[in-house]
Amino acid sequence: METFMCTLCGVAVSSSFGEGWLKEFRVIYAQPPSWGDVKLSGVCSAGETGEYDIHGVGVIVARCPRDAGKRYDDQDLDPDSKIMVKLGPDAPKSFQNIAPSVSCCGFAFHAACWDLLAKIGHIDISVLFGVCFSMPIVDAGIIQWGHNYGGAARPQHFSTPSQPHGSRWAGFMPEELFSHIKSSLFRSDPMNIPDLHYLTRCAVRFEPPAYPWPSRQTARDVFYRLPVEILQAILPTLSSPDVASLRSASRVVACLDLPESFWASRFQDGYEYAHIFETSLQRPRSWKALYMFTRILERQSHALQNRARVWELGLKLKKLHDQVEGVSCQGLPLASKFEPDCIADDREWVVASDGLLENTSDNWYYLRGGCRGLRIREIQLPTPMEFSHLAVSFTVVDNRKFVSGLQFVTPGGEYESLGYIASFKQTITLPSTASMSGLHLALSKSGIKAIAVELDNRTLSPWAGEPKTYPRWRLSTPAGAYVKAEFDAMRLLSLGLEVKAEVPGKDRCFWKSDVPAPGILCDPPIDGGSFRRPDALSRPLLEAAIFRPATLVGVAAYLSDLNAVAGIEFMHTDSTHDSLLGQRMPLERRPYSPNLYPPHGEDHASSISVDGPGGERITEIRIEENMDGPLKIEVRI
Ligand SMILES: [Zn+2]
Repeated sequence: METFMCTLCGVAVSSSFGEGWLKEFRVIYAQPPSWGDVKLSGVCSAGETGEYDIHGVGVIVARCPRDAGKRYDDQDLDPDSKIMVKLGPDAPKSFQNIAPSVSCCGFAFHAACWDLLAKIGHIDISVLFGVCFSMPIVDAGIIQWGHNYGGAARPQHFSTPSQPHGSRWAGFMPEELFSHIKSSLFRSDPMNIPDLHYLTRCAVRFEPPAYPWPSRQTARDVFYRLPVEILQAILPTLSSPDVASLRSASRVVACLDLPESFWASRFQDGYEYAHIFETSLQRPRSWKALYMFTRILERQSHALQNRARVWELGLKLKKLHDQVEGVSCQGLPLASKFEPDCIADDREWVVASDGLLENTSDNWYYLRGGCRGLRIREIQLPTPMEFSHLAVSFTVVDNRKFVSGLQFVTPGGEYESLGYIASFKQTITLPSTASMSGLHLALSKSGIKAIAVELDNRTLSPWAGEPKTYPRWRLSTPAGAYVKAEFDAMRLLSLGLEVKAEVPGKDRCFWKSDVPAPGILCDPPIDGGSFRRPDALSRPLLEAAIFRPATLVGVAAYLSDLNAVAGIEFMHTDSTHDSLLGQRMPLERRPYSPNLYPPHGEDHASSISVDGPGGERITEIRIEENMDGPLKIEVRI
């Protein structure tokens, strides 16, 4: 059965179940090229004939009331007022030929989940649309937020060249949900919980505990010195587990009668029952009674458990949204996917990026790795290149920190901003005695992770961000050069420098561990040369192995049983100078390419000794290769 999943709760939008709420949905949508004009549709039903069509795996078109105030079952709904929205980010190229009349694309939410999201706080649907657009989405139409939708999605493992051990979350199809052990939880309406309406009206009164107030013997308890009113003011600021711990540790706190204000605080933002939003509509007669009964109800009520699950997912989505709400993308806009009417980009650039996909491929739609660029910005570096510091902004997506924007600040306090300048910043302070000569970037497939400044005295600043072992790219920054950056709705994905003069080969490619230090001659092929591959996700890294002829004592090659060379190592008298290209033994098995290093093959090493200290020198290294890479390496001394 084909179906599609709710963007928020990860459960199928379907009429296959008896529960009416599961079939009702809304979409947030845009009609290209007006990507910035995002709208909310009226309520549609997956149960109505012709309400949605399937066009192959994962390509679903919904017919929705254009007006957000309308429902599919309104008597006066004009059928001609419906719009056709392809669910998901944009449309795969292969689909656009089949149904060119479908002019909108968007993301679906159960109508109930949308209402629940609105209870959490204000949502700017343009920001939400961009955030959804920026995330990977797989065949079953489930957005990869990095969580398992509170148990509503199952893990699915896969291998691709860019992610040899990748995994993602797949939505349960309706037939799986029927049999799934937790199905009644996921199928329970999180918005409509009649028991809660009853509880808020409950008038049961709880008497204060009959514990005697502690005597002076407890004077060693520091809380004894505080007036009761102060204690009663402190407790509502603590989480319930902390209050329970404190009551275990302090007899004074244990004997304290917790006031209504304490019990009421448990239903506020940040506490365990913030999702019981009914209290904002009807103040309960007793907060304590409501708290006690809610604790009982939450163990029994699947609807309340589902409410808590979807609320938690909504908080996560809101957190992503809030990072960029009201934050404009700074710099001069150039024509891009989201902003096609801006100035055309007609400069020549060298661009540092990993995983940024061309939007002409279906890979761009079925994003299993890599990222989609939505906006492009340009700035010009000043002449002379004097900065007091570089402020690097970050956003956190899927619990990982990404660079979102840059601010180049001059000694006079003027600055040039590029991208999303968020409140979360790290500053690289530059010495007044040196000026910036380049930028080093640490690149992941999902965006730029860290940045460091290279100075004209050949030193590198500390990194801002999390460079870890991500591939590096160096860009030299001549004064007055234009800088181009591409973004999704939250992250910096690529950084380009205008090509004014010949760009050093070292600046045109990835380096696996680090960019070779200044002064090391290195001339990789321009534009990747024979390394160039069409798919941005399988671009190779360049590695540099530096050997010191005077202390070289051996060269080893590591080979698979097919005699494919997997690694070459230069060994020195001081092993800390040893330098490796590729892999050491045992060789890593790559599931996506079983033929390269078969699982049962016998790897072996072959080495020669070199008497570097005695004056022996390498005169030539020959490589024989076929399409898969090097087969044979010969070293002459
Ligand atoms: Zn939902």
